[in-house]
Amino acid sequence: MGRTVDVAALVAAAAQSSPRAVARLVSLIEDAHPVLREVMAALAPYTGRARVIGLTGSPGVGKSTSTSALVSAFRGKGLRVGVLAVDPSSPFSGGALLGDRIRMQEHATDSGVFIRSMATRGHLGGLAWATPQALRVLDAAGCDVVLVETVGVGQSEVEVAGAADTTVVLLAPGMGDGIQAAKAGILEIGDVFVVNKADRDGADATARDLRHMISLGERREADDWRPSVIKTVAVTGVGVDDLVEALDKHHEWALRTGALAERRRQRAAAEIEAIALTDVRRRMGDLRDGDLVQMLAQDVAEGLRDPYGAADLVLEGLEAIQRSPLV
Ligand code: GDP
Repeated sequence: MGRTVDVAALVAAAAQSSPRAVARLVSLIEDAHPVLREVMAALAPYTGRARVIGLTGSPGVGKSTSTSALVSAFRGKGLRVGVLAVDPSSPFSGGALLGDRIRMQEHATDSGVFIRSMATRGHLGGLAWATPQALRVLDAAGCDVVLVETVGVGQSEVEVAGAADTTVVLLAPGMGDGIQAAKAGILEIGDVFVVNKADRDGADATARDLRHMISLGERREADDWRPSVIKTVAVTGVGVDDLVEALDKHHEWALRTGALAERRRQRAAAEIEAIALTDVRRRMGDLRDGDLVQMLAQDVAEGLRDPYGAADLVLEGLEAIQRSPLV
């Protein structure tokens, strides 16, 4: 990380849709590079336009095939599209281009498509702050739509997809997926549900089960969004137009009702919190081996002081560090 970064030039290039600048910025985010503070300040005026669509679902359900099909559909409408594949379980990707992934190959040479992957493991709270920052980069690069695809399964995937403007939950026939969905808590986060692999037996039953489960959870006001259930065959593109229509409808609803603004505010709040907590943890780490904490710990261990009072003193110490221009 010894190389100095010309932030102004990099951000200007990204705003001109330079793929190289976008790649470099995503790498800086992966590296949690100290220059990010400056980068985000410079990027801010270029952001706030892109629609963010999250896709989540078990491995093999057809996320990347569906993502690719959606890229084609949005490109067909003349929109510039970004794809961000987030892998919270991996410590590195090097901002790697996913163009070598077979299903993305057809888009690799399209200058209207930006495809980046990002690994977030190994950074404290990395998932919570890195994803919105990478979205901001793609937004600034002029993407009208950004598809966020999570790689793998788990709570963190739900977290990423749930932070989108519109969240798509994919299932496939069989595999008891509906039940799995209910268990994993993804019924709550889906705005649009896709039963992919509708060319297989059981797709209608899965769609029916899903509609039933969604209706059970319903406690809605008249103007609330009712999640749609769409059947697709991502490999052939069947149903993809219906999916795009459902996504557009959700977007229009979210714009009209203020739900979009509210979600974006929540996403920003989570990002602010993650940045603040990461900073506190870092400074706490610096402090932990210092005399103050050791002394307080000794006192608490011996019953001379209570832990809350000690924590107050530590937080005061953190503030003092922050105020000091020398640290
Ligand atoms: P991901 O792990 O969720 O990203 O799933 P992929 O998109 O990699 O798809 C997993 C496998 O399912 C691949 O072999 C795809 O070709 C296949 N697949 C995806 N969509 C469909 C579909 O609609 N029908 C069928 N039969 N296979 C599909």
